[in-house]
Amino acid sequence: MDLDSIIHGIRSGDRRAISRAISIVEGEDARDASREIIRSIYPFTGNAHVLGITGPPGIGKSTMLGRLSEMLHLDGLNVSVLAIDASSPFSGGTLLGNRIRMQESLTRNGIYMRSLANRGAAGGISRSAWDAVKILDASGCDLILLETVGAGQADLEISKLAHTVMVVLGPGLGDEIQALKSGLMEIGQIFVVNKMDLPGAFAAVKDLQETLAMDPKKDWPIPVIGVSSLTGEGFPSLIDTVKKRIQFVNSSLTIRTEKMREEIIARMTDELVSAARSVLQNTVVADEILNKGSKGVADPYEAVESILKKINLHAKSF
Ligand code: GDP
Repeated sequence: MDLDSIIHGIRSGDRRAISRAISIVEGEDARDASREIIRSIYPFTGNAHVLGITGPPGIGKSTMLGRLSEMLHLDGLNVSVLAIDASSPFSGGTLLGNRIRMQESLTRNGIYMRSLANRGAAGGISRSAWDAVKILDASGCDLILLETVGAGQADLEISKLAHTVMVVLGPGLGDEIQALKSGLMEIGQIFVVNKMDLPGAFAAVKDLQETLAMDPKKDWPIPVIGVSSLTGEGFPSLIDTVKKRIQFVNSSLTIRTEKMREEIIARMTDELVSAARSVLQNTVVADEILNKGSKGVADPYEAVESILKKINLHAKSF
């Protein structure tokens, strides 16, 4: 498949073209082709709602996501799933098995799913996730579900990309829930307590509601929804909430524009950081500092100040 037919295929929603394009942007070695894909499709992006789903491993995210995406798909939404796998020595085999099962079941139901592996490159996952989201967006998706494997750096990354972050928790997390809450409270707009069929689930819902009530958000009061991904209990209410949230974001030009602006800045910052690193590695600035300022540059901060001064001189022409 040549690049033109891939780009054309993305726009017509051809899954083979979408998969090829994601493989290209995910790899490190076809930068020119990746750039060309993103450049060509970028004008057609900005329509999809990105829903990030996060929560500790084993809480039932994948099970929930399967049911949720199928119900939304039946409701007429064009839904895709992107699963982000942080590479971890602990998650290897089980995770892979899970993903394959999930992929098979989603595909059977007509939903496109793709896993993105974190190959360890700094900023790699945010770049490939961002590019993959753009590709799905340009292909005509209404809703992109973006799942990560648990708390950590990837959560912060998806919260930059997502219009909505759904935090999934469950009963029986004990003390862990306190620690999780402190990190996740800030990024979530929808909270889900999964495994409502198990003891302790109602207490978890109540606990979350109380915590959220301490810091009420005016524009979007954060809902806590109890579900069981095994029995399907609570899903109608979850579907309703997701649809309301999509409407809410769609009706707010400020949220959408602000999100896009943040996203552009985050992408540019990542690119600049990696460009700066490779420039710095190939120049003598660091050596001059090592040699105790032989050229008058005494420390890293001073070196950066002097670089920024030069950039500012040109900033108007950017
Ligand atoms: P993930 O790691 O968060 O993606 O979790 P999984 O979806 O792989 O689920 C982990 C385990 O929890 C599996 O054995 C599921 O069958 C089970 N599970 C998922 N949802 C529920 C639920 O609502 N109730 C109960 N009792 N078990 C669930």
